Amino acid sequence: MDYRSTRNEKLRATAAEAILQGLAGDGGLYSMDSLSGLDFDWRSVLDCDTLTTAREVLAALLPGFGKEELEELLHDAYDGKFETDELTPTVEVGDDAVLELFRGPTSAFKDVALRMLPQLMRRAREKCGVDDQIMILTATSGDTGKAAMEGFRDVPGTGIIVFYPHGGVSAVQQAQMATQEGGNVYVCAVEGNFDDAQTGVKNIFAAVEANDLLKDSGVRLSSANSINIGRLAPQVVYYFRAYAALVKAGRIAVGDKVDFSVPTGNFGDILAGYFAREMGLPVGRLICASNANNVLTEFLATGRYDRNRPFYKTASPSMDILVSSNLERLLFLMSGDGDLVAKLMAELKETGAYEVPAELRARIGGIFWGGCCDDAGTKAAIGKLYRDHGYLADTHTAVAWQVAQEYKVACPDHNPVVILSTASPYKFPVAVWEGLGEVAGEDEFALMADLCEKTGVAIPKNLQGLQEKEVRHRDVIKKEDMLSYVLGKVKEDAWKK
Ligand SMILES: *Cc1c(COP(=O)(O)O)cnc(C)c1O
Repeated sequence: MDYRSTRNEKLRATAAEAILQGLAGDGGLYSMDSLSGLDFDWRSVLDCDTLTTAREVLAALLPGFGKEELEELLHDAYDGKFETDELTPTVEVGDDAVLELFRGPTSAFKDVALRMLPQLMRRAREKCGVDDQIMILTATSGDTGKAAMEGFRDVPGTGIIVFYPHGGVSAVQQAQMATQEGGNVYVCAVEGNFDDAQTGVKNIFAAVEANDLLKDSGVRLSSANSINIGRLAPQVVYYFRAYAALVKAGRIAVGDKVDFSVPTGNFGDILAGYFAREMGLPVGRLICASNANNVLTEFLATGRYDRNRPFYKTASPSMDILVSSNLERLLFLMSGDGDLVAKLMAELKETGAYEVPAELRARIGGIFWGGCCDDAGTKAAIGKLYRDHGYLADTHTAVAWQVAQEYKVACPDHNPVVILSTASPYKFPVAVWEGLGEVAGEDEFALMADLCEKTGVAIPKNLQGLQEKEVRHRDVIKKEDMLSYVLGKVKEDAWKK
């Protein structure tokens, strides 16, 4: 029982159980008591290839999963799926390094974790002796849904239903989802916005739980979002890969510290960096980069988390989040105090805000540095990166780069900085085109071609010819009908294997 709820030390689970359940029964997140005591030699992985590094990191983080089985799962997850042999290459851009996480099958960094989570879930199901089929429910504002479907597609024992806001995602994202293949995937537009879709999914979980709606159905529900430890663990790997790349390039010596700048929404990606640090990797500062939804910037500056604020729809939509769920894990790991976490999360639920004790705030501030960048700053950064360094960045990456430049000025004692790049610029062609100083037309697909012609940067294969692909999913429903939609799909046999 290596995992426990962040809110209650008595709620314990094995790694496999934590992966199957996602959230702990009391609403807390599953966490180890501490990571610093893990039996893991960070130096030993620096000379390994990616999958070997992944095997070692995952074996340490997921007790009960053996190295041999992890190796098999890793091959199933990643072989032939990424554009580059090094799944997550590190490239030099000016004085900084950029860790490219978007070379996977849907051109978003979520691929790294969502290729592996279904494999871990498949094996966790076997380990726990569960015969039920697992149906994954996800609401998406664009990136998660596509990456999750691609990951779960035709994985035995699982199915997936993705809900997205009708008319609320970009044309590229809409085409990516509507053309999704696989015998166990369902995609459905909901009349409403992203919050409606997300609230609808939460209500389905609650209704099914409260009324035992899936009793004797042979199906249970689960979620693929980043509160699942099986989604977080695979993200820890690329921090080691980036560090190894800097050593290999002669930019640092083994043991030197490196700072990482992370475009942050739900706090999953940056928390994986904290995990790597706790496992011994010489990480200096973790730079938490936000867009205009800068609730984390304020938290890091004041110790007060307050979600009572306007919500902005920005050019970096995957970071448009006011409640960063994974922050709860950081509060737990840094305080070791589940009672404190339970109290703060209850305050968040009741009042939308909480404040951490001064001593905890000081320790968080010793590791994390926060900054933010609005849409005008994001586009200016895209232009500057391209003009000065010939590097074409997406909007999320541009936020992280801009905040990193501000960090370097504010903290002259900084270490070499690695910027995490989380999406292909071709997923957000309108804002990127405007960042280059051009005027964008309506047609996103035409813009992709323009962008390619102007910059010579290749369009990722999975985004090419999307308009011509067969549309396989056309369902549009009212938000009131989401539960009956799910119960209908649960009954069908077509997806069960
Ligand atoms: C999800 C996402 C992020 C934010 O990652 P978190 O783990 O939620 O902090 C940043 N950029 C892109 C492109 C994303 O899809």
